[in-house]
Amino acid sequence: MTKANPFQNAIKQLDRAAKEINLNPDVLAILKTPKRILQVSIPVVMDNDRVKVFHGYRVQHNDSRGPTKGGIRYHPEADISEVKALAMLMTWKCSLMDIPYGGAKGGIVVDPKKLSHGELERLTRGYVRSLNGFIGPNLDIPAPDVYTNPQIMAWIMDEASRMIGYNVPGIVTGKPIEIGGSLGRQYATAQGGIYVLGEACGMKNVKCDRSSRVIIQGFGNAGSFTAKILHKMKFKIVGLSDSQGAIYDAKGFDPNKVELYKKETGSVVGYKGSKVLSNAKLLEQPCDILVPAALDNQITSRNANRIKAKIILELANGAITPEADDRLNKKKVLVIPDILSNAGGVTVSYFEWVQNMQQLYWEEEEVLSRLQKVMRLSFKKTQETAELHKVDLRIGSYILAVSRVAEAVKLRGY
Ligand code: GLU
Repeated sequence: MTKANPFQNAIKQLDRAAKEINLNPDVLAILKTPKRILQVSIPVVMDNDRVKVFHGYRVQHNDSRGPTKGGIRYHPEADISEVKALAMLMTWKCSLMDIPYGGAKGGIVVDPKKLSHGELERLTRGYVRSLNGFIGPNLDIPAPDVYTNPQIMAWIMDEASRMIGYNVPGIVTGKPIEIGGSLGRQYATAQGGIYVLGEACGMKNVKCDRSSRVIIQGFGNAGSFTAKILHKMKFKIVGLSDSQGAIYDAKGFDPNKVELYKKETGSVVGYKGSKVLSNAKLLEQPCDILVPAALDNQITSRNANRIKAKIILELANGAITPEADDRLNKKKVLVIPDILSNAGGVTVSYFEWVQNMQQLYWEEEEVLSRLQKVMRLSFKKTQETAELHKVDLRIGSYILAVSRVAEAVKLRGY
């Protein structure tokens, strides 16, 4: 089996939308190419006093609508194709939410679980130094992504501020509250996804209510908060997973208890009364709503026909390939695409940045009510665009997002 090429998939999705709107080929050529690709090596003194050299990337895809924005992932399989694809997705996501940013993404090839606290800090600070001159509150603003967290954002903020000579909280988002983070940012990706899921449930021909059974793949930031919030709303969480494997119980889980179990044992696997499965098999179990919230390329032409869910909330970036989209459409599965489903994260990152720039901080209710407004409006516009062009929500969201970026590119000139 050849390894999937996430950037090729991202280009395929862009091409589909470009065709629908007859996009000017010159603009399309610009949009297909990242503006800047940085590849860096980061020497880190390990706890045994030996130096290990890590490799990292930062891709800035397009800044026509504002400074580039996007997370940094620490993952042993991070590669340039993936980071390029994810940077492009960030451009569309910010445009779809109509927030004044372009898109970027960073990655370091590392398994952070194998590093000590000190090694992780030195790696992060080294990465920031290697990006000196290329990140900034009006230039490129990193944030958390897979296996990075508020502590890592705090080191980024600190190291960048030391280089500049004074505190610059707006250089990174997803920070701890104590140093300029926003209330609500920690669970914003999950909450944003749940707001759009609520809108989708209101669509005609969509059957979903609180008796719906939910499977969530991934128990990181997005997956665990989604499970806990949906459980509180009385949805039935029948499947969960993490990198070690998956669990299923038709009677339903209390994700708060599963979280405690994972804290004690290191994994959700083995939780009492549950059936143990692989991550791949979990996707095919009976449920009404499926939430891939782990990594990309999970639902492909190989397993799409075996998916039983009626609604997929694509919380992980790039979880569904274009070929899988076609099959799911044929099966009348409603796919809420990644750039809409998981945009709550970057939207509250934007709110965090606005608060940092203004040095004026909002209450949690204000953050949530603004988030809900943005998510609802983006869903509505996506749905209207999809209906107008007679396409699915993915292409609808792309048409909207790509048109806005294309307009900015044309207005600014090239
Ligand atoms: N990593 C998240 C995403 O893929 C958040 C990015 C951000 O907050 O800038 O959307």
